[in-house]
Amino acid sequence: MHILVCVKQVPDTKNAKLDPVTHNLDRRSTTAITNPYDTHAVEEAVRLKERYGGSVTVLTMGPPQAVSTMKHCVQLGADRAFIISDRAFAGADTLATSYSLACAIEKITREVAPVDLVVCGKMTIDGDTGQVGPGIARRLDIPPLTGIIKIESIDPSTGEIVVHRKLDDGYEILKSQLPCLITVDKSINQVRRASMPNMIRAARFNPVMWSVKDIEGIDTTKLGLKGSPTIVSKVFPPPKPQGGKKIEGSVAEQVKEIANLLMARPEWIKKKA
Ligand SMILES: Cc1cc2nc3c(=O)[nH]c(=O)nc-3n(C[C@H](O)[C@H](O)[C@H](O)COP(=O)(O)OP(=O)(O)OC[C@H]3O[C@@H](n4cnc5c(N)ncnc54)[C@H](O)[C@@H]3O)c2cc1C
Repeated sequence: MHILVCVKQVPDTKNAKLDPVTHNLDRRSTTAITNPYDTHAVEEAVRLKERYGGSVTVLTMGPPQAVSTMKHCVQLGADRAFIISDRAFAGADTLATSYSLACAIEKITREVAPVDLVVCGKMTIDGDTGQVGPGIARRLDIPPLTGIIKIESIDPSTGEIVVHRKLDDGYEILKSQLPCLITVDKSINQVRRASMPNMIRAARFNPVMWSVKDIEGIDTTKLGLKGSPTIVSKVFPPPKPQGGKKIEGSVAEQVKEIANLLMARPEWIKKKA
């Protein structure tokens, strides 16, 4: 089975600062990391390889420094890695991103091996739209199964896959046919510690780097800012919540004060239907 995982390098938003003038993310204020959802996507692909055999390919669209993220994926057990990197990809919204990645997946299918399963993270921690996975599936004309928390079984002889999905109000068990695309939630697995042999392999590993001219038939009008209908018109920090009152004193005093406040503002009390 040939499993392909789409992995994005993102700024570590935990320590990130916004540029006080443009309010854009100041990328110098933080380090670049592998999108956390995607580490679980790579981990799940490696576990499927251990269960059903085959190989794991990772793919990213990003700047040349995304090499560190590809090496991280090799540490986790990926077998090969491709980076599509070109100024023409810069400023892409999700439509342009999914198009670029789908073209690269078609090239990998032609030149490496047909892809049986595409695995994406449910979302990134920077753009966090969750749109790229389903966008890629649409372009490759394969079924998208999103928010997956468990892969119950894959029958290589029939191509049937059974997965579990978490919904806001419950769970669903879905059956589909390979090739398909899944997006995974972080709860699907625990990422294991990298093994020594994989650490050594990653240290010497160089991913394949493709620019636009390496991807035959790609339509450059659909790439990057040029190919992106979404325009970020303004970025601003959310307004800080105003007011608010600290309730102090004994429990009884606090309860009494809250009751008085609520009585004074009946519109705060949700009426039972
Ligand atoms: C703060 C912010 C807000 C943004 N808002 C929007 C918006 O509203 N609309 C819009 O169209 N664009 C938006 N963008 C741009 C968007 O982030 C990029 O298009 C990005 O490449 C993909 O979108 P995402 O980060 O939301 O990915 P998601 O759709 O959340 O990613 C889902 C999965 O797709 C795969 N994936 C995503 N990007 C890549 C990649 N470059 N390489 C490999 N795999 C990848 C990963 O498996 C990832 O887990 C925003 C960017 C930022 C930083």
